Amino acid sequence: MANFRMAAFDKLLERKPLEVKREADLTSDYYGMLVFDRPKMQKYLSKDAYKAVIDAIDNGTTIDRKLADGVATGMKAWAIENGATHYSHWFQPLTDATAEKHDAFIEHNDNGGVVEAFSGKLLAQQEPDASSFPSGGIRQTFEARGYTAWDVSSPAFIVGTTLCIPTIFISYTGEALDYKAPLLKALNAVDKAAVGVCQYFDKDVTKVYANLGWEQEYFLVDEALYQARPDLALTGRTLMGHSSAKDQQLEDHYFASIPERVASFMIELENEAYKLGIPIKTRHNEVAPNQFELAPIYEECNLANDHNLMIMDLMQKVARKHGFRVLLHEKPFSGINGSGKHNNWSLSTNTGVVLYAPGKNPKGNMQFLTFVVNTIYAVYKHQDILRASIMNANNSHRLGANEAPPAIISAFLGTEINKMLDLIENSVSEKKMSPEEKTSLKLNIGRIPEILLDNTDRNRTSPFAFTGNRFEFRAVGSSANCASAMIALNTAVAEQLVEFKNEVDELIEKGLKKDEAIFQVLKKLIGLSKVIRFDGNGYCDEWKQEAARRGLTNVTSVPEALEAYYLPSTIDMFSKLGVLSEREIESRAEVEYEKFTKKIQIEARVLGDLAINHIVPTAVKYQTTLIDNVKGLKEIFGDEYKKLAGTRVELINEISGHISAIEEKVFNMVEARKKANVIENGKDKAYAYDRDVRPYLEDIRDHIDKLELIVEDELWPLPKYRELLFNR
Ligand code: ADP
Ligand code: MG
Repeated sequence: MANFRMAAFDKLLERKPLEVKREADLTSDYYGMLVFDRPKMQKYLSKDAYKAVIDAIDNGTTIDRKLADGVATGMKAWAIENGATHYSHWFQPLTDATAEKHDAFIEHNDNGGVVEAFSGKLLAQQEPDASSFPSGGIRQTFEARGYTAWDVSSPAFIVGTTLCIPTIFISYTGEALDYKAPLLKALNAVDKAAVGVCQYFDKDVTKVYANLGWEQEYFLVDEALYQARPDLALTGRTLMGHSSAKDQQLEDHYFASIPERVASFMIELENEAYKLGIPIKTRHNEVAPNQFELAPIYEECNLANDHNLMIMDLMQKVARKHGFRVLLHEKPFSGINGSGKHNNWSLSTNTGVVLYAPGKNPKGNMQFLTFVVNTIYAVYKHQDILRASIMNANNSHRLGANEAPPAIISAFLGTEINKMLDLIENSVSEKKMSPEEKTSLKLNIGRIPEILLDNTDRNRTSPFAFTGNRFEFRAVGSSANCASAMIALNTAVAEQLVEFKNEVDELIEKGLKKDEAIFQVLKKLIGLSKVIRFDGNGYCDEWKQEAARRGLTNVTSVPEALEAYYLPSTIDMFSKLGVLSEREIESRAEVEYEKFTKKIQIEARVLGDLAINHIVPTAVKYQTTLIDNVKGLKEIFGDEYKKLAGTRVELINEISGHISAIEEKVFNMVEARKKANVIENGKDKAYAYDRDVRPYLEDIRDHIDKLELIVEDELWPLPKYRELLFNR
């Protein structure tokens, strides 16, 4: 049996940091060179075509066919000049990755040759085979067709020799089969709802944008070692591996300098990202060994999300050039911090105001409080669907473990804002306030900006934390499409803002002054959503008990968490705002249940294979060596052998114990899978996998990890944790 682990070391010794050249000295000189952005549109499109596109981007108007032809022609000319030979509709099916189908820019001409061609029709719409993407029952075979449609709001870009056109992906019956379509609808809903509320404070606000700044955490593993770990290659995480004698105890990775080979990977990654107009700003080491993070400057949510998906793809490509593999899995190594993707989220207006940044005057501060309070209320009301939006087989390893936000959704506001909300909650209604009380409250509200300046409270254990001018949804997983969380959050906030406005308007109609009406509704919302506010340590057990007393939900099981899709409050919210219909929601839940089942199924298969084909034979081999040794000693020394054989006799026994346990458990796991596999209903099947199959993964691993400590190092076939985590 070839030992791939040993072979990998030879490659490791040869590794050197690659020399990387940036496109130009100044980033601004080449930033966005591969993006068909506004300046390029202006250059390559006719005046009319340009105007039509800009109008479509800014105001959502449609582009007529003739002008679309003009846009396609200009886009093609630019793309060909920049080395593109193909074009592709780039979309986001409900898998963990993006999809693309490449077509060449060619058509037959009249004399048997070809010409480069690209029409408005091909730009606007394409028909990939929808049957190979998850659809949760929406796409029965008779309606297997789906189509992709151009998302004008996100610019086309070139990867390699392909012009990529961001698109939504929908079935012929109109249901969304992707993440982008509902995200655009959710962003539209929150825009409308927030503009309505902003109008109380500033009549000039006509458009509200949702912003997203993601922080992408990841691990790097040497390519050769990765190749010798079938579990990493097939499941994205290690299904076995004894912890390294040293890992993150000394907390020496975070502030250490970035290793040279990693640094050159990062420089090339950034270089490529800048060409694509992705504004990467930050890079650093993370807590765990070989764990890193990168983050851009925040952007409008839809674009930011496209950029995150692009970068996840780009990372893999660039890493391979540098002899690395990127692990985006939420928990690649047991016992070591996993990876998340904090979603920094805010709303801002066309007048340049970030609605979660304290205002410059009392009116602005009232607006700030209005948005904070409504957001907190929305998170309180929709805690379950927010959790479901980030929950899956991978991320469940982080949530509820003491390293990532817990499976309880709570919100951190910091001492000063909490004080302010308490003050409002406990004040008498503004109508009955004495002039002194009124002045004092106004003074307090007016002081918000100063207070916040001195109080940059941080809480690393909260799933939803206020961080000065935004909220940070920290529970999102590193491999996730952020859209899932962003659809839920933006829709929840949109729903609440609509409701808030209705209530305020009703009070105004009853004769209250606007300010008083706003104040009264805020006061009510603060009281109702108080239980979701928590500034303490989200990792400790007392919080679990406290949260239960407060009536907050705490769900660590994936199938249970996904039940939130079926809640009346979820269906009502999504359908009322036109983001997802009931059928679309159900199909999404089905897809999630199926993904969960399949992930556990694959892990179980891979673990079974590795256990029986790699680990048991290795253990037997080593055991045989021990037996031979003991036999030899006995032959030479007779009864004296026992003393001479030390612990070896015991080890022979111990190895047998682990081998039998592994064999038995793998057999039982296969049986459990067979039983679960015949269950028709997708949800029931997921529950069966969770309950009857998943526990074996840990159980079998335990025995393997014990064997790893016993078996001779040179025989062990899989790279060990210390090797995976410290080679860079
Ligand atoms: P941290 O200290 O949490 O690591 P960073 O300063 O690195 O925070 O910022 C994290 C992300 O938050 C960045 O992408 C940044 O652009 C983004 N961000 C900053 N302000 C806002 C905002 N108002 N809305 C959305 N994202 C923001
Ligand atoms: Mg952060």
